[in-house]
Amino acid sequence: VEFIHCGFPEILNENLKRAGYEVPTPVQMQMIPVGLAGRDVIASADTGSGKTAGFLLPVLVRALEEVTALILTPTRELAIQIEGQAKELARGLCNMRTALLVGGMPLPQQLHRLKQNIKVNLQQVLDILNQIPEQYQTLLTSATIPASIEQLAQEILQNPVRIIL
Ligand code: AMP
Repeated sequence: VEFIHCGFPEILNENLKRAGYEVPTPVQMQMIPVGLAGRDVIASADTGSGKTAGFLLPVLVRALEEVTALILTPTRELAIQIEGQAKELARGLCNMRTALLVGGMPLPQQLHRLKQNIKVNLQQVLDILNQIPEQYQTLLTSATIPASIEQLAQEILQNPVRIIL
């Protein structure tokens, strides 16, 4: 299976090619169709398995239908990485904008915090979700699914497809 069989817009195919993505990784093969179909997903797969593009690609395609996406990450470093990948994949797609929100701290402190691994704060995620419109799709990814993530999933996911690699 190659990305050109995913039915993506041509510009997205070109961006994938330029980024050196030719075939979807196993987690992407499972996440992309389910994400495009609008289902909630909980996926666990190792770091480096391509989980980021696994949620970004359906998000970008669905964003063409005037959908807005909010990506929450436990660390600033991850937020910066994901925005970089989103920009690379979204290049030339109409009306695509990204905004990186990592708190308004001075740069030296931000760099210091980049090196810290801040734990997911369940309550912060729930507080944010309480502020957004009722109709939303959630694609939750994690290298592992410890009890805290499982609990979060129980609270926020609706009839999710489980992808465990
Ligand atoms: P991730 O697991 O999301 O952190 O991705 C790990 C790395 O693999 C990143 O540098 C991606 O740019 C790259 N990557 C993701 N999907 C693919 C793919 N289908 N083909 C080649 N590289 C990929």
